[in-house]
Amino acid sequence: MSWDQIFGHDHLVDRFRTAVVRERLGSAFLFVGPDGIGKRRFALELATALLCERNPESELNACGQCEACQMVAAGSHPDLFTIEKPDDKASIPVELIIGDRDHRNRKGLRHEISLSPFRGGRKIVVIDDADFLFEEAANSLLKTLEEPPPRSVLILLVANLAGQLPTIRSRCQVVHFQPLSNDQVEQILGSLTDFEPAVSFQCLASLSAGSLDQAMRWADPTLLEFRTAFLAVLGERQWASTLLAKQVADFLDQAGKEAAARRDRFRTIVQCAEQFYRALMRRLIGQPHKADEALCRAVDRAAEHWQAGTEGVARCLDRCLDAEREVAANANQALLVECWLDDLAGHTNMRKGAAVHVY
Ligand SMILES: [Zn+2]
Repeated sequence: MSWDQIFGHDHLVDRFRTAVVRERLGSAFLFVGPDGIGKRRFALELATALLCERNPESELNACGQCEACQMVAAGSHPDLFTIEKPDDKASIPVELIIGDRDHRNRKGLRHEISLSPFRGGRKIVVIDDADFLFEEAANSLLKTLEEPPPRSVLILLVANLAGQLPTIRSRCQVVHFQPLSNDQVEQILGSLTDFEPAVSFQCLASLSAGSLDQAMRWADPTLLEFRTAFLAVLGERQWASTLLAKQVADFLDQAGKEAAARRDRFRTIVQCAEQFYRALMRRLIGQPHKADEALCRAVDRAAEHWQAGTEGVARCLDRCLDAEREVAANANQALLVECWLDDLAGHTNMRKGAAVHVY
């Protein structure tokens, strides 16, 4: 890989290069931005450029050929350590930071980063899914963040800055990654070889929410078909949440047994609902909204009979954001689908100003 294959974040490359040239590269970073916009790719390319043994560090440009670059690509460089939330866990286990009971402080991230670089360069640690770094695991990181070993770089990747513990946030430089524009997504899709979806790049870009991964997910025609049917239901005056929950659950089953594939699919469906409620909100407050045909049709229909007002739409949106967090935390999926849709149906059927029942 090279920076050429990382799109939309050129100004951040320049920023890091300038810091390296001035010998003022920080030691702890929070990379913040929605999933699927290239934070992880950027972190790995930065690591490769810092560890490359052929090009000088000040160029911040990995040669891609030397032994170090090849080891990073193969995931075997001894000075690059990455951790992420295991699929079957709801958080990053503290053991990944400080080692398990039998290897306390002799394994794990904190131990790795404390060792001198094996190849004489830097020690780099990347924590993916750092949104799931909770109290104990986060606290075990604080000392490393406060007194980072010389020439070490620690990068935390998060979708949501507000969810970070203040103790972590205050010890890191925050680097914001913006979603790509639809034009950028369209352009990147067009530049890919061996990518020939059945629908136009423009259509995929319009569904991407600024994420290339998301855009590519929509190349699956069954997903597009499901979206059209799903939006049509949301646009109805009233709908049966149990029936829709069954349809969503069946559709998730079709994604196979692999937890990550099912979770991606679920997240995509939740994001469909978010798009719908965002567009409906704009419609209700008289702001223009850009949407494809299926979304327009559903929003037009909903606007004819929507009685829950903008506060009802806001409640639905909040509920969707909660569902996204819950699915990422690996909650029981079938139950999650049911509760989520049941709540949406409840908010949809509620009249504006009606009393809110708290159960
Ligand atoms: Zn190299």
